[in-house]
Amino acid sequence: MINSRKYYITTPIYYVNAEPHIGTAYTTIAGDVMARYKRLCGYETFYLTGTDEHGQKILRSALSAGLEPKELADRVVTKYKEVWEELNIKYTRFIRTTEEKHKKAVQFLFRKIDHNGDIYKGKYSGWYCTACERYITLKESPDKKCPVCQRQTEFFEEENYFFKLSKYQDKMLSYLREHKDFIEPSSRYNEIFARVKMGLEDVSVSRASFDWGITMPIDEKHVIWVWFDALTNYLSGIGYPDETDNFKKFWPANVHLIAKDILWFHSVIWPCMLMSAGLEPPCKIFAHGWWTMNADKISKSKGNVVYPRDVIDKFGVDGLRYFLLREIPFGLDGDFSFTALKNRYNNELGNELGNLVMRTVVMVEKYSNSTVPQYNPSEVDKTIMETLRSTQKSICDHMEHFRFSLALENIWEIIRMSNKYIDNVKPWLLAKEKLSHLNTVLYTLTETLRIISIYLMPFMPASMETMRKQLGVSDENISITEGLEFGQIKPGTRVSKGNPLFPRVEDK
Ligand SMILES: [Zn+2]
Repeated sequence: MINSRKYYITTPIYYVNAEPHIGTAYTTIAGDVMARYKRLCGYETFYLTGTDEHGQKILRSALSAGLEPKELADRVVTKYKEVWEELNIKYTRFIRTTEEKHKKAVQFLFRKIDHNGDIYKGKYSGWYCTACERYITLKESPDKKCPVCQRQTEFFEEENYFFKLSKYQDKMLSYLREHKDFIEPSSRYNEIFARVKMGLEDVSVSRASFDWGITMPIDEKHVIWVWFDALTNYLSGIGYPDETDNFKKFWPANVHLIAKDILWFHSVIWPCMLMSAGLEPPCKIFAHGWWTMNADKISKSKGNVVYPRDVIDKFGVDGLRYFLLREIPFGLDGDFSFTALKNRYNNELGNELGNLVMRTVVMVEKYSNSTVPQYNPSEVDKTIMETLRSTQKSICDHMEHFRFSLALENIWEIIRMSNKYIDNVKPWLLAKEKLSHLNTVLYTLTETLRIISIYLMPFMPASMETMRKQLGVSDENISITEGLEFGQIKPGTRVSKGNPLFPRVEDK
């Protein structure tokens, strides 16, 4: 079952000139949620993340910090790994572009593309944005400001090597036509399709003005363009070109998760590089939106950066993970607000989910000697069963399509319904007369919570582990396919009340 079902998901590799912030945490948490979900579905999953350590931007940051670029990279990489561990990110591999293995892979890929006749030497002059590591055209931006980051560009003129991107225009167009879901959301697909139709220009893939990069195999005076270098991590991260078994198993990637500002590189330049090298393009590029702060993009230069630490001290790691994926549909922009965060945390996590767990465990302790009772299948509430059945299908469907917020909404339907169920049947009254019905109610509640804990496991792994301990199901072998059938929890399972899962956060 395992080998035929693989799932390979990646984040972009992050520049080592800044510490992880809410934007990079967002992509990485989303990737982690998806990877965990796929593991629960029985897929052999490879989750790749890492750091992009070459190029002029890093060189400059290092110089201004009085460090060698590799020193700067080492420091920031340590930071990244710490934060990812803190945020409970379970990646398969963390790749650094300064690794020897990666360098060899980039040079190997470069040679393949060169052998295919797609590299030539030419002169380039133009306006360059160092922050984005790309040339801009005056067509894009007559005022010479970078259209992506709005920074002032610099004029460069140098002898470069070029990749014949223009040669792939027709191939790329027909690829897009045949793979309508190659780029998601579909608005992004339309954008890219229109742009490719307007024509592709060759891209410069070498730099000779600095040497912080991977040496070009055909001309040692040049280093390979940092984007060529960075994109190749998706291959080298799974063993290209040497570890062929692992590579064959996982390539092509099922999805590259990215932020929308780097869509062009991923959805056009990268597939064309792969086509030139005789490799398959990735199956999907999913471009999510940006978090804004009072409608402004969050960025270092604007001084409005939110760091994971700012949130998790107060709301916990799972509070952050939940909020980021619940607040806005994945794919759209959204405003980061501590008020919205607090409301969702207190209401949805604290009042709705946390209380449901607390009420259920306390009642099982009180009315059933702390053990899950036997139940009568004919007395199980029909609406609850119906909701469990209907949401099951749509939760999985939403997850498959990265609609995290809708999957969570579905899960909360079950939670709200369960709270209402308690209010309606009033177990404290049943305890006086209808013990058999009371047992079925208690069973239904603990079993529903067990199912909820599995759905929520990818989103909030630590809290769900705690919750499952309280329900007495912590050592169960869980999987989405087997775990969702109603009636799995064994009568006699011992529950135990713990601390509230999501203690209320008050205003200070
Ligand atoms: Zn820029």
